[in-house]
Amino acid sequence: MAQEQTTWEYAPSPEGTGHIKLNKKYNLFIDGKWVAPSSKKYFETINPATEEVLAEIAYANEKDVDLAVKAARKAYTNVWSKMPASERAKYIYRIARLMQERAREFAVIESLDAGKTIRESRDIDVPLACNHFFYYAGWADKLEYAFPNRKVEALGVAGQIIPWNFPLLMAAWKIAPALATGNTVVLKPSETTSLTALKLAEIIEEAGLPHGVVNIVTGYGDTGAAIVNHADVNKIAFTGSTAVGKIIQKAIAGTHKKATLELGGKSANIIFEDAPIDQAVEGIINGIFFNQGHVCCAGSRLFVQEGIAEKVIRKLKQRMESLYVGNPMDKNTDIGAINSKKQLETINKYIHIGLKEGAEMYQPACDLPSKGYYCAPTLFLNVAQSSIIAQEEIFGPVLTIQTFRTVDEVIQKANNSPYGLAAGVWTDKGSRIFNLTTKLKAGVVWANTYNKFDPTSPFGGYKESGFGREGGVHGLSGYVKLS
Ligand code: NAD
Repeated sequence: MAQEQTTWEYAPSPEGTGHIKLNKKYNLFIDGKWVAPSSKKYFETINPATEEVLAEIAYANEKDVDLAVKAARKAYTNVWSKMPASERAKYIYRIARLMQERAREFAVIESLDAGKTIRESRDIDVPLACNHFFYYAGWADKLEYAFPNRKVEALGVAGQIIPWNFPLLMAAWKIAPALATGNTVVLKPSETTSLTALKLAEIIEEAGLPHGVVNIVTGYGDTGAAIVNHADVNKIAFTGSTAVGKIIQKAIAGTHKKATLELGGKSANIIFEDAPIDQAVEGIINGIFFNQGHVCCAGSRLFVQEGIAEKVIRKLKQRMESLYVGNPMDKNTDIGAINSKKQLETINKYIHIGLKEGAEMYQPACDLPSKGYYCAPTLFLNVAQSSIIAQEEIFGPVLTIQTFRTVDEVIQKANNSPYGLAAGVWTDKGSRIFNLTTKLKAGVVWANTYNKFDPTSPFGGYKESGFGREGGVHGLSGYVKLS
């Protein structure tokens, strides 16, 4: 007798927004002050779950970026580079503690602005962001142990540009190691998710950080380009698309600027016949549908060993049926809103390409909210290795599935990608894990788990996924000159 599957209906459990305070308009945070953009231009940031306007954000131009870089240089020369490292650490600890105190506010604002589920903002983004500040505060006065027998010097002014998928966390990944190593900062958040970086600026003010040590300038790509091209910036730390990463690399070629680029991905999740299948299915779901697939290291290509393919696909489809898609502020929601209309259009374009390429699509039946930007979790079967949906980064909740027979075959298939950010291996055999971790061309390889992050662990890519590492002791290297 076929077993009937029961899906529980949960009562709505929306997170309150009464405790947050948002301004109608946000200016630029330069030299410890909130200043209007010289162009007097502002742009709207919207809630992608409802399409409502949340606030107006200042649009910084070259002149504003120049002011921010000058403030950062002055702060570096006069204050920050002269301060004992143990004093610098105290400021970074203070930022971490203040963030922790306001964690709920950060989580709610992140979910409103980015469309990500409150569960993720609350349990992943915000705690990890705080932990990054705590972790790097600890390194500030121990750099001689991070780089034994070397003289360690700061670089100067770091220009930092971040994307929209983990807005606060990416700001923490950038600012914390830069400050710990004695640099000052000009940071630009993404145009669709500026709010938590601006809230962080409020905390930086409250922490009493000397003026100009951290400057936050908001705007679009041209604001980012003004940072990249500014002659007095010593380091560019960029996280975003490979296309923009290439523009940046060209722009700084031949200059003195040091760079780290954290770019796109098309990561392989590999499941062997001896894997614990239920855990693996949960890991696959987490790997691609977590944060609506807006994860650079999303396990967007699934490789299943032939003997278990039918079982895994059946279980995956069953699990997808029980995923809640909808209001990001509801604590039961598994898949929130796509970050922007533009990104939803990109995802839909790829779904269309997949269908045109002849792949077989599966989406569970789910009612998507009529307002806002949503995409049902999607998987594609019968996908060729050469197909566009298996080669290009979609950056949405779309999974391609291919099968394999042997270890050599799957290594070849998994590495057949211009990217090399992450991979997952699911197997009971330790020796197989070690074999694959050395042969997969990926910066991170997770074994029997996926999407696990920790401030002590380095993260970064190979090939077109970029270079340099963030997190861990390795994350300090990009911000220091060693002699
Ligand atoms: P994006 O490249 O479009 O934008 C990233 C940032 O760069 C934004 O702040 C944007 O305003 C700015 N920018 C745009 N054009 C610029 C230019 N010419 N010069 C300087 N700055 C410019 O990327 P996105 O759509 O915001 O983010 C998604 C991408 O980020 C995906 O490809 C994803 O894989 C990648 N990502 C990578 C990592 C990682 O650690 N490797 C982490 C998160 C996201």
